[in-house]
Amino acid sequence: MSETGSWDVVVVGAGVVGLACSAELSSRGLSVLCVEREARAGQGTSSRNSGVVHAGMYYPTGTLKARLCVRGNASMWSYVEAHHVAHARTGKLIVATDVAGEQKLHDLLARARQNGVAELELVPVAFARSLEPNVRCRAALWSPRTGIVDAHALMHALAAQAREGGADFAFHHALAGLERRGAGWALHVIDARGERSTFEAPRVVNAAGLQADEVAALAGIDVDEAGYRQHYVKGNYFRLRRRGLVSRLVYPVPEEGLAGLGVHVTVELDGAAKLGPDVEPLAGRALAYGVDESREESFFRAAATYLEGLAREDLTPDQCGIRPKLARPHVAWTPGEPARDFVIADERARGLPGLVNLLGIESPGLTASLEIAREVADLLR
Ligand SMILES: Cc1cc2nc3c(=O)[nH]c(=O)nc-3n(C[C@H](O)[C@H](O)[C@H](O)COP(=O)(O)OP(=O)(O)OC[C@H]3O[C@@H](n4cnc5c(N)ncnc54)[C@H](O)[C@@H]3O)c2cc1C
Repeated sequence: MSETGSWDVVVVGAGVVGLACSAELSSRGLSVLCVEREARAGQGTSSRNSGVVHAGMYYPTGTLKARLCVRGNASMWSYVEAHHVAHARTGKLIVATDVAGEQKLHDLLARARQNGVAELELVPVAFARSLEPNVRCRAALWSPRTGIVDAHALMHALAAQAREGGADFAFHHALAGLERRGAGWALHVIDARGERSTFEAPRVVNAAGLQADEVAALAGIDVDEAGYRQHYVKGNYFRLRRRGLVSRLVYPVPEEGLAGLGVHVTVELDGAAKLGPDVEPLAGRALAYGVDESREESFFRAAATYLEGLAREDLTPDQCGIRPKLARPHVAWTPGEPARDFVIADERARGLPGLVNLLGIESPGLTASLEIAREVADLLR
């Protein structure tokens, strides 16, 4: 690939969303360049998550999160089967341990039905216990369509598909400037040696994850005015040293305002399990990936409400990931702030034709990635 060139579309960011966009756009016959500042794909949030293929019951009806998650669940299961990506359709229990929680399960079921979630049902406690003998609850929802996927293998498959479609990749290239040139865009990039070059394209997809607001600002958008400023909210995990406590995904009822889904048990493809993620707003823009060990006690207390036989010694600090949370314009995100929807914005109305910005792509972004890519490709048609 030449250092300077032109393509139909430049996708900024090679996380799961940028890769899915690259694969989708190249499959529609467009020439694609995917620009990534790291040495390889998937070094950001896409490799720091729970790997859960969600069913779509949590999100307000009609939102992009709800629609693209429900559709994404179906398309993700088809994709991983067709492309031999490691996965397990483990199913998931959402459990309530008190009366208030039981009411929330009913509300969740009603919302899930409005969202078109398939197969979710309230099940007898005995059924839940037969699936997971160590889980204590007074009511439970069972979601057989929820499961887990190997996120790295998924990204590998998407990158291979994009390459087969003719897409080029420029790793170690950080976008540093974005300006209108003629009827399209000039993208100024800096490589690992600090050398500058320029790519040109009539269309640009901003899939820069945690830095997507910075990329939008490069295009001249006032991110505070637009409500595009992303606030960093860390999610810590603690690993369970002991295997066999649970073999499926087990979630408590979600937190108010959907700050997070509550400290849940995520199983992994090798049978290991971890607790988390929690919700820890970060003050600045530093990507602070250390796990705060003092949180162990709160993790233990949260999980012990529904997990019998859990001991403090079972927990050990694990990974963490950072969510790009959107708040209202000019408002810093705090845990009381309702979760905002994904932004998939065709910026023509701002006088920036050909630019699509993706912001606030937090969970269920992995599940919805293939459907986000279809939305983007439709916008750029
Ligand atoms: C703790 C946690 C748990 C989660 N669990 C789940 C889950 O179980 N299921 C689910 O569906 N979703 C989950 N998610 C959400 C999901 O992980 C994300 O929505 C998804 O990974 C976002 O992908 P992305 O491609 O937008 O971002 P990223 O993976 O962060 O990719 C963005 C890429 O852009 C690159 N980039 C940034 N700036 C530039 C630049 N200037 N130039 C070039 N490249 C640039 C970065 O290096 C990065 O590689 C979770 C998220 C978190 C934080």
